[in-house]
Amino acid sequence: MHMIKLHPAIDNGFPATQENFDGGLLHCQCTTDKVTVKLSAQTAHNHACGCSKCWKPQGALFSQVAVVPRTHLAVISNQDKLAIVDESAAIQRHACQVCGTHMYGRIENESHPFYGLDFVHTELSDDKGWSAPQFAAFVSSIIETGTDPQTMDAVRARFVQLGLPTYDCLSPALMDAIATHIAAQNNA
Ligand SMILES: [Zn+2]
Ligand SMILES: [Zn+2]
Repeated sequence: MHMIKLHPAIDNGFPATQENFDGGLLHCQCTTDKVTVKLSAQTAHNHACGCSKCWKPQGALFSQVAVVPRTHLAVISNQDKLAIVDESAAIQRHACQVCGTHMYGRIENESHPFYGLDFVHTELSDDKGWSAPQFAAFVSSIIETGTDPQTMDAVRARFVQLGLPTYDCLSPALMDAIATHIAAQNNA
């Protein structure tokens, strides 16, 4: 059986989160006139995501996605190449129209539990020190986009081997954060 390819930034192991790292640049995959996004803070909650909406590099079963405060994200070059993939989605993913790379996802609904955080793919950076992946989310969802259900045991086993627990929604910490937000809204 050949090795399962989850994501290029995860398959061969990954460096630990670097203390005191405070951001860097993300580039789209165009060879010229790259869209460049500057993050002026470390990312958090980095994880593999199996949902059908997150951007995945060619050949990867999963996306790798982290969050950063929206106040710490700025597009610093070729912003005119960006367009929103799906205006109706909770997370508006701003993608390069030429190479297709998603540069950041933003929530505009102020009552959303994750309002204030942008979603980013730190593998688009040449800088080292970003927050390391911590878990895999929405693992079962890869079946929806064509993965054979028979391979799911092997997919989950590979994540565990790499030290990443697997969930079929978000991690318990993030699910608790969402529920806490909803409870606060219900009691307001
Ligand atoms: Zn591009
Ligand atoms: Zn996703």
